[in-house]
Amino acid sequence: MRIVVALGGNALGKNLPEQYIAVKETAKAIADLIECGHEVIITHGNGPQVGMIDSAMALLAKEDNLQSKTPLSMCVAMSQAYIGYDMQNALRRELKERDIPRPVSTVLTQVRVDKDDEAFKNPTKPIGKFMSKADAQLAREKYGHTIVEDSGRGYRRVVASPMPQEIIELSVVRSLVKAGDVVVCCGGGGIPVIAQNEHLRGVSAVIDKDYVSSLLAKELDADLFIILTAVEKVALNFKKENETYLDEMSVEQAKEYLRQGHFKKGSMYEKVDASVQFAQSKQGRIAIITELKKAKDAILGLTGTKIVK
Ligand code: ADP
Ligand code: MG
Repeated sequence: MRIVVALGGNALGKNLPEQYIAVKETAKAIADLIECGHEVIITHGNGPQVGMIDSAMALLAKEDNLQSKTPLSMCVAMSQAYIGYDMQNALRRELKERDIPRPVSTVLTQVRVDKDDEAFKNPTKPIGKFMSKADAQLAREKYGHTIVEDSGRGYRRVVASPMPQEIIELSVVRSLVKAGDVVVCCGGGGIPVIAQNEHLRGVSAVIDKDYVSSLLAKELDADLFIILTAVEKVALNFKKENETYLDEMSVEQAKEYLRQGHFKKGSMYEKVDASVQFAQSKQGRIAIITELKKAKDAILGLTGTKIVK
């Protein structure tokens, strides 16, 4: 089977030392799938990482008294590179230890968004650290950032999260997959770009990794799209008395549950919605949402929440 695997925050850790440890476990889960003979394409998120890079660059700009900061698209590119670097080496090592020598590579991936996407008028994705009220005001004035109060925990920058329209390096990814390589791509949702006079220009946004992974899975004609996150199954009435975990949802059921508000926006909503988009695009396409260490079991049908047409 051809499988697109989308990795969430718990597969990467929140900082460098955590990442180094986390990717080793992640590599094991992915190597299990490759060992079973599957073709695997890996994508990942970058919420904490892109925020960290953005803050570091802001600090540098302050120290050097620069007026402009590093564009967010550049920060996404940096996050793709260093996460991919750790990921590909951890996987390379794990495969070698299992005597499955396979080239692993990371493709810096740009993703085109629509410049008129409503998301640019309504930034929703929180990135980076929590700030004090004074720092929030400074960031608004100096950089024009949108900063919101986040449920009593402090102030946080929010950025636009437009829908992915086109994966620019898709043909490169396709060639590598065809050659039998294991590919890490579309990291952090992809480097957001818009088309301008036949060229590409980076924009200030962070694309949702679940939506871009669903698009990638469709474009590569994958059989399976698996989202590995922090929960083994998707729940109805999550964290309420009558919470029930789901083994399977039809596309229609999933759409109904999305409408009824069972899945929190910014976490589970996008995963279920992205799964629906993949599963409904063609008969036989299956999406699964499960926990990182349950990947193999989920593919064997033993756990996870399956979304089918
Ligand atoms: P990732 O980093 O993998 O994208 P997120 O934190 O964005 O992870 O989303 C996964 C989280 O979504 C789970 O850890 C869980 O706390 C939350 N969640 C919200 N609604 C649900 C639900 N209905 N069922 C299961 N988990 C849910
Ligand atoms: Mg997430």
